[in-house]
Amino acid sequence: MSPSHLSKETALRYPWKQPWNPTNSALSDPTNPINQDEKNEARANVTEQALHGSEVHQIERRYKHFPGNNVFLLGGRLQMSTQFKAFAMTLSALVLPGVLFFIFSAFWLWHHVSPAIPITFSYIYALVIISMLKCSTSDPGILPRNSNILIYDPTHPWSVIPEDKRLLVGSTRSDSAFLITTVYCHTCRLYRPPRASHCHLCDNCVEYLDHHCTWLNNCIGRRNYRYYFIFLLSLFFEALYLTVLGFYIAFASFRYGSDTNFARHLQRPWAGVSFFLGIYAALGSIFPGILLGYQCYLIGCGQNVHEFLRSKNTETEDVRPYHNSVWINFLTVLCRPKNVSYVRPRRKEMV
Ligand SMILES: [Zn+2]
Ligand SMILES: [Zn+2]
Repeated sequence: MSPSHLSKETALRYPWKQPWNPTNSALSDPTNPINQDEKNEARANVTEQALHGSEVHQIERRYKHFPGNNVFLLGGRLQMSTQFKAFAMTLSALVLPGVLFFIFSAFWLWHHVSPAIPITFSYIYALVIISMLKCSTSDPGILPRNSNILIYDPTHPWSVIPEDKRLLVGSTRSDSAFLITTVYCHTCRLYRPPRASHCHLCDNCVEYLDHHCTWLNNCIGRRNYRYYFIFLLSLFFEALYLTVLGFYIAFASFRYGSDTNFARHLQRPWAGVSFFLGIYAALGSIFPGILLGYQCYLIGCGQNVHEFLRSKNTETEDVRPYHNSVWINFLTVLCRPKNVSYVRPRRKEMV
């Protein structure tokens, strides 16, 4: 069929297929902006029809269609929540004292005390940064949403609200057993396993959800709790270590130096920065110290932060169905195997 025999409908739909007509400049001139808009609109309509009219399948990585609020980086290898400002502040507050220590204090300690001291500090410092990054960028144990059952629709007369179910759980080292309620999550469309909860910032159910940490920009759940605990522990020791070293350098160098005035002695860069680091680390040790003590107390009680706060807020009976002995509790939480990610964001699938 020649272009001159195009139907009117086709001509309107695909204006660029019309024969060249020097008298119709609006359709034939490709540089005409009006004509270009018409072309773009017609192309968009055709593309939309191709996508929705006929089924088009593509193979893509899962994270590209992830329904929660998580952000994936490096092709789905890393995942975080969306509080990047708080995360950047935390990272800066941790990196800065280490950089100052290596520039101003490590050299003095290496030559006047022992090389082992800055080397030990380097190890603890690396532990803090690595555990923090692992905790912030790991999958905390997100439970994938169920897409195979009917969605509860309150406007539909036959729609039934899924009832909460009760499960019997018991401690392996005691004769006691407890009835616990497993709640149906309407967002994820599943019955949450015991100790799982829905994080409303990330919009996912997470296995063994301890809490959502804004400063680390991630949920703290079953798969990254160990990193979180190592982070708190190493950060607390790093702060104590830096407090001692900072004050030691400032006072020891003054005692064995030639300065007679301590204020003037602190004007030397390495002495002043070390003294500042001592104060900074002393203040900075308070927060991780409190958190570490809080976490140790809760692990010993067989609870996590979410369960503890829920029991306090609802003023229910203090039932702890997962409590064994203190050592078993610590072994369970810190030494259990790290299960595979349920979400597997890098896996490819048909969409
Ligand atoms: Zn959920
Ligand atoms: Zn979260």
